[in-house]
Amino acid sequence: MSLFHSVALAPRDPILGLNEAFAADTRPGKVNLGVGVYYDAEGRLPLMRAVREAERERLATPTAHGYLPIDGIAAYDAAVQQLLFGAEAAAVTERRVVTVQSLGGTGALKVGADFLHALDPSAKVAISTPSWANHRGIFENAGFEVIDYPYYDAASHAVDIDGLLAALDGFAPGTIVVLHACCHNPTGVDLDTAQWRQVVERMQARELVPFLDIAYQGFGDGIEPDAAAIRLFEASGLPMFVASSFSKSFSLYGERVGALSVVAASDDEARRVQSQLKRVVRTNYSNPPTYGAALVSHVLHTPALRAMWEDELGAMRERIRAMRRGLVARLAAHGATGDFGFIERQRGMFSYSGLDAAQVARLAEEFGIYAVSSGRICVAALNEGNLDTVAGAIAAVGR
Ligand code: PMP
Repeated sequence: MSLFHSVALAPRDPILGLNEAFAADTRPGKVNLGVGVYYDAEGRLPLMRAVREAERERLATPTAHGYLPIDGIAAYDAAVQQLLFGAEAAAVTERRVVTVQSLGGTGALKVGADFLHALDPSAKVAISTPSWANHRGIFENAGFEVIDYPYYDAASHAVDIDGLLAALDGFAPGTIVVLHACCHNPTGVDLDTAQWRQVVERMQARELVPFLDIAYQGFGDGIEPDAAAIRLFEASGLPMFVASSFSKSFSLYGERVGALSVVAASDDEARRVQSQLKRVVRTNYSNPPTYGAALVSHVLHTPALRAMWEDELGAMRERIRAMRRGLVARLAAHGATGDFGFIERQRGMFSYSGLDAAQVARLAEEFGIYAVSSGRICVAALNEGNLDTVAGAIAAVGR
């Protein structure tokens, strides 16, 4: 009998299936709103100027391809800490933050999950309803039981803050709570500052463990304001985890550039945590890749390139916002039923459009417009060339 006779076929990734259906569609006006990447006004994946410049400078001084330290490039890790916590944060100046370079945001979540599971395998991990699909998979794969907390209220297109706070009150101490720091994927709906304060307070009272995921810093209100939740948690003194990613903000998806940062109670505790994080990395993939992190570090530590990057990221953010405004205006122009103003209040690359699975299926069949069956659309895939078609089609399936 074959070794693999009992291997079951794993379920297909729904988004990959959607990309295949999009690729097979021969209609010229087809649009893929199912993607999770930022496209520019021409519908192309950008190569940012700051990145291109850093690549050019790097090529000018050829370097041999040695191993990086297990926790990555030290200057990169320091730059990550400053972006997330701010240079003046007590946790940073008191050397209570440990940062390890990771394989994108996904890798950061996985290193954090493995570390936490070794610490307390009986703790549960709570994720939002809905959440990025891989949250459940990563934490379950690390051995945890994953539970849900209410997050999105479809009727009001807003955060179900009462449901969320009540769920936190019911969790056992030590429960790990995964929170989207900004630009919630898939809904685009974030907590405001007052609501974050309530969450921090409840988590502190209940001794819950915050694990913040920030994959879109700079895509909401700006680099600094998008880190507000991280800063509130840091100021609370709670031990915390942050998984961060430069996939989107540097348009470096394939280079796998992210980091896991852990805030501990003391410098000494941080060194011990660091030693264990390094052990997780060492026994999984030994050490991280150099190229992407070297580029990011170079940009963040070179004032002219950093300013260029901030400008470019700002332009990406503004373009997404313009597309949100444009979509709302054109939906109204096409006589769409209902008020779509909530799309303008959402943040980041995604919007929970309110379309149901049947309407999403009609969008694909009748109009060649592909979205996730939950109704999630990628606003960053809209541009002046497809906005009107998309608005017309959404209005038609909504009638
Ligand atoms: N967290 C969230 C909420 C995301 O949306 C993503 C990317 N889609 C990630 C983490 C992972 O990012 P990366 O590609 O850097 O692994």
